[in-house]
Amino acid sequence: MGFVRGSMKRCEFICVLGGFVAGFWPRRRSITVAIAALVLLPIEVSDAGWLSDVFKSSSKHTKSPKHVTSAKRVTLARRATSPKPHAVRLAALGAGALNPSALKPVATMCDPSKFRVVLDVGHTAESEGAISARNVAEFVFNLRLAQRIEEKLKAEGFAETRLLLTEGKARPSLVKRVAAASNLRADLFLSIHHDSVPNKFLEDWEFEGKKSHFSDRFSGYSVFVSRNNPDFKTSLSFAELVGKELKAQGLLYAQQYTRPVMGRYQHPLLNKETGVYSYDQLVVLRKARMPAILLEAGSIINRDEELKMDSPERQNIISSGVTAAVKEFCEPRWAILGPL
Ligand SMILES: [Zn+2]
Repeated sequence: MGFVRGSMKRCEFICVLGGFVAGFWPRRRSITVAIAALVLLPIEVSDAGWLSDVFKSSSKHTKSPKHVTSAKRVTLARRATSPKPHAVRLAALGAGALNPSALKPVATMCDPSKFRVVLDVGHTAESEGAISARNVAEFVFNLRLAQRIEEKLKAEGFAETRLLLTEGKARPSLVKRVAAASNLRADLFLSIHHDSVPNKFLEDWEFEGKKSHFSDRFSGYSVFVSRNNPDFKTSLSFAELVGKELKAQGLLYAQQYTRPVMGRYQHPLLNKETGVYSYDQLVVLRKARMPAILLEAGSIINRDEELKMDSPERQNIISSGVTAAVKEFCEPRWAILGPL
């Protein structure tokens, strides 16, 4: 599937403002208006990395166990029919920052025909997220990959899978996503994104005659969980499965988030084998009433990886990996016995 290029003419500004890094691409607006808007709303574009301040709550509070809600208990009751744990997988976690309590077994048996995965398409048509090295909006990549995952999950019997498309500006859309996931009675929330880099890493190049930006410095997928999610342990369990399956597909995870060079975008690596990071303040993860993860499927600011992410082959690999993870999450025995 080719890139959408001609239809995406826009002015481009990359601004660093008050510690926020924001990309802003106004349509039919003057530069003056765009800059003024940036001053007022430095949150137009977001990501799980440098662009994701919008996903973070301004509050630093941490939920205590008392916030474990009845919705969670309902969710688990719907899902759990057997106490078969992910104990082995969790016990294999690296010596990261995990609290020992996180290593308790999690029960995750379910009926695929009733199990509802909500696939959250990161960003919106209005607020498109990162821009690739070849000037394609992250939202385009997110939507395409989420659709492919939806197809595969439904083909594997997860008929209740829902694609969650949200409209509007970035920050209000976060509240909408969380509310929609609850209204849909999601058993599992998976937010799909594609990665970029902090502006300080961007280099200039021209693509099809247009001044563009790239960084070939980093690549790979990454999986994020919030330790403030009311069901963190189950979130982590699913994140581990996604990371494991993507690794099994031959993919490598993005390792830069552990490095000091990432500054405020450094995150604790919970599992050095599978590339699961914690990003506790991400709104969609910590506010979701159900187990939730965010997948950065790969870097689209890296010129080589952008081409791969645009290829049906890579989309197939990732969607297959995610589907395998959901199957194993729902029915742990599947991993041992193979598909029935
Ligand atoms: Zn994003």
